[in-house]
Amino acid sequence: MAAAKSYPVYRGVEGTVKQTPTEIPALGPKDVLVKITHTGVCGTDLAYIPYGVALGHEGVGIVEEVGGMVTQFKVGDRAGGGYHRNSCGNCSYCLSGQDIWCYDRTIFGEKDYSNGTFGEYFVGTETYLHKIPEGLASEHAAPLQCAGATVYNALVDTVKPFERVGIVGIGGLGHLAIQIARKLGAEVVVFSTSRDKEQEARNFGASEFYLLSETEKITKPVKTLVVTGNRYPDWDKFLVKGVVARAGTVVPLAAPEAKMELPAWKMFFEGYNVRSSLVASRGKHNEMLEFCASHGIVPVIEKFELNETGIAEAVGKLTSNKMRYRGVLVAS
Ligand SMILES: [Zn+2]
Ligand SMILES: [Zn+2]
Repeated sequence: MAAAKSYPVYRGVEGTVKQTPTEIPALGPKDVLVKITHTGVCGTDLAYIPYGVALGHEGVGIVEEVGGMVTQFKVGDRAGGGYHRNSCGNCSYCLSGQDIWCYDRTIFGEKDYSNGTFGEYFVGTETYLHKIPEGLASEHAAPLQCAGATVYNALVDTVKPFERVGIVGIGGLGHLAIQIARKLGAEVVVFSTSRDKEQEARNFGASEFYLLSETEKITKPVKTLVVTGNRYPDWDKFLVKGVVARAGTVVPLAAPEAKMELPAWKMFFEGYNVRSSLVASRGKHNEMLEFCASHGIVPVIEKFELNETGIAEAVGKLTSNKMRYRGVLVAS
C-alpha cells in the first residue's frame, strides 16, 4: 500500500457504537488485508462496547492485499476469522494444537485494539485466518468464526455419537450446538425458558425438549450438558437431581460475571467434570468449517447493514434477546 489509507472501524464511544477512522498499517510479511463483506455480532462484542476497542471478531471477506511472505492466501480468496489473532508458536500449548491457551496470544479484546471485523478492513496474520469452504455462503460462514467454533470445540472431543447431549438455551450458540451435536451423532435434548422455540429446536435436530421449569420430567440423563446464553442455570436442577449422568461433563459457554457455585459433594460422588471452550484453536476451527460445510449446518441469521444504524439495530435486538438467532452485518 503506497500511502497509508484511512478506513472506518466501529467501537464503543460513550455507550454507543460509532464509526471512527483508523489507518491501514504497512502490512508485515505474514499479514493479510481482508476487505470485510460480512461479520457476525456476538454477545462478547456487547461486553466490549464500554472499553472502546474496535469491535467484531466473526469476520469474513475477500483478501485484498498480502504481505511479502504470505503463502496461504492470494488476492481474491475468501478468508474468515477475527477472534484468535496470534500466539507464540513455540510453547507447549502452541505445539500441541491448543494455541488458544498460549500465554502470548492475541485475541479480540486483549490486544490489537484498533483492528476489528466491524470495519471496512481487517488485518489478519495468515495462519490465523481461515479459508472458507466452497458451498458455505459468506453470510453463514461469519457466525461460525466465533459461535460455530466455540460450540464445535465444546462438543467434538466431549461427545460420543451414541450419547445424549443436553443444550441449555437456544440462541446464537444454542441453535448451532443443536445442529452440530445432532450431526456428530448424538441424541439432543434441549432445555429452554420458552415453549415458542420447541418446534424450531426439533427442526434443528433436538429429539426432546423441556422447559427449564420442568427438568424433572426427563427420564434418561444426558452425558454432556452445554450451557449457552448469558446466565447460568440452577445447577442443583441439573446436578443434584441427576439430569446429568454420572461422570458427565458440563460445558458452560455462558460467561456471566458470577461465581459458578456447584454442589461440591455431588461433583465428587457423581464424578462430574467441567470443561471450558473459548472458541477453538486453529486446527479445530478449520475442521469445524469443513464439518459444517459438508453437513449443511448453517446459522439462522438476521441481516443488518454494516454502518452505525445497522449496528445499533443489531445491538438493540441482541440486548433485548430478540435476535433469531445470529445477527450478521453486511457491507454495502
Ligand atoms: Zn464471540
Ligand atoms: Zn504459544
